[in-house]
Amino acid sequence: DSKDAFILTVEDLTVSFDGFKAVNGLNFYVEPNECRVIIGPNGAGKTTVLDLICGRTKATGGSVQFKGQELLKMREDQIVHAGVGRKFQNPSVYEDLTVFENLEISYPRGYSVFGALAFRRDQAVRDRIAEIAEIIFLQNHLQEKAAYLSHGQKQWLEIGMLLIQDPELLMLDEPVAGMSVAERVKTAELLNRIIADRSVIVIEHDMKFVEDIATRVTVLHQGKLLAEGSMAHVQADPKVIEVYLGH
Ligand code: ADP
Repeated sequence: DSKDAFILTVEDLTVSFDGFKAVNGLNFYVEPNECRVIIGPNGAGKTTVLDLICGRTKATGGSVQFKGQELLKMREDQIVHAGVGRKFQNPSVYEDLTVFENLEISYPRGYSVFGALAFRRDQAVRDRIAEIAEIIFLQNHLQEKAAYLSHGQKQWLEIGMLLIQDPELLMLDEPVAGMSVAERVKTAELLNRIIADRSVIVIEHDMKFVEDIATRVTVLHQGKLLAEGSMAHVQADPKVIEVYLGH
């Protein structure tokens, strides 16, 4: 494989907190249109890896290349602008605004000196909002205040607020936590829809859900890569079984 085939190239990624290596020489490679799921026991370093990629935490060493750009040299806002979106575990939508308005304020405005004033509700924006609302199953809720949505619908809305910025890589931390079974099924459908035009990295504990969404699974343990491949492949790996079942 040529490295040009990857949208994200993570090499020798390392971070120390007071001498403790939470992520220790990690390598992994994400292809376009991939849903990569990172699994591993608590404390394995999963959240820290996403924090490093999005610039929230500064790496001690290594390289993270996104479409040929070195993310480790960029600020968090520059990384967002380069096309990397990150959703955290708790939904942070604007409760007093409608679904439409939440999507509207997330629409990229560019860096016009007129800022929000220059922003008009033109047809292109409306069309894009309608398109996103359908992907996130909220096309019939556009005029509802976000406060009245279910927990799952708020999670989808937050994904929509990222999608409207058109990231090529979307990172999600436990997207189905707290969701009903029906919402989990729809979230799997949502992720399978969005990888048609982008890549996704998901941290997930629910193995049934991982099976439904993962193109490939990366297993972390003590900040290092323990195993990688299809869900079936990593599940059959004796190292993975040992880490999950203990001894
Ligand atoms: P996971 O998401 O797999 O549960 P984390 O990435 O949250 O694991 O944490 C990995 C390890 O790094 C844990 O031992 C955690 O306590 C430690 N850690 C994470 N962030 C910090 C920090 N800012 N300062 C010190 N230790 C941290």
